Amino acid sequence: MAREGGSGYHEGTTHGHFLGKVVNFMSANRAEACKGCTSSVQVTDAQIERLLSRIKPEDRIDDDRYKMRLEACASCESLAYGTTCMHCGCLVRLRASLKAERCPHPLSQVRPKWPA
Ligand code: SF4
Repeated sequence: MAREGGSGYHEGTTHGHFLGKVVNFMSANRAEACKGCTSSVQVTDAQIERLLSRIKPEDRIDDDRYKMRLEACASCESLAYGTTCMHCGCLVRLRASLKAERCPHPLSQVRPKWPA
């Protein structure tokens, strides 16, 4: 069962609600039906920084693993607009910053993209 505002990808995590709110924020600002197919889902660095600043320090992953996760996203075919994962609709800079989150790629169980 998905949580309020959640996409279902974040079930069982303490951060799903936060990411769900981010996805809802992006969806609310869209001009067309598909959140993954419109320019309105593009967000600025300043918007991402503002969202990052709201994450509790205890929920953040360490800098080295954060960098490795983002490097994996940067070379991933599922990254859209340079910011957004096409599998969950998350801003990867946010998702990757949360230590409890995992890469949502369908093959991540057999071929992980993010380091453990
Ligand atoms: S599938 Fe994983 S590695 Fe690819 S963009 Fe999404 S979170 Fe990043």
